[in-house]
Amino acid sequence: MAGETNNSGINFELRKDIINVDKNIVKCFQCGTCVSSCVASFVLSPGKYSPRQTILKALYGSELAFKDKNLWMCGNCYHCYERCPKGVHPTDVLGKLKEISFSMGQAPQPVVDRVNNILSTGRALSIAGSELVRGRVGMSKLEEFKFAPEIKKIAELTKGGKK
Ligand code: SF4
Ligand code: SF4
Repeated sequence: MAGETNNSGINFELRKDIINVDKNIVKCFQCGTCVSSCVASFVLSPGKYSPRQTILKALYGSELAFKDKNLWMCGNCYHCYERCPKGVHPTDVLGKLKEISFSMGQAPQPVVDRVNNILSTGRALSIAGSELVRGRVGMSKLEEFKFAPEIKKIAELTKGGKK
């Protein structure tokens, strides 16, 4: 994401990027169907996370949309996407905001660790603990994930998601 936030708190470049991801976002009329469908909002962070509010911030081009760490509570369940009466695709918008957050070094550490694991080994989780236990009981080491080289190549070509 490029561009600067003006005195009114609007980053027009961010707004343009978001509308490119989902042109239907301009139809959002803040009905709240998304937040009332959102498991993350109800279970993980009651009152702290609202896709409706995030959509509003994104639509206005407010950087608060991707600076809020609670954004990462979204588990990509697509309930909001399926139920929005105006055909807005909050999951896609949230995905873009997570991408921006990550590329600006603002993603939570567990997310960064997981991405680094995928880029270096092809696995989302570290298997160091499993390897230790396997060694103790006389089992062989796990084979390297066979698509790891391809994943490394993709990471090189895409700069590992960094801008
Ligand atoms: S359900 Fe759709 S229209 Fe309603 S607030 Fe959420 S994104 Fe906006
Ligand atoms: S995709 Fe994310 S924001 Fe939408 S309902 Fe699921 S957890 Fe909530």
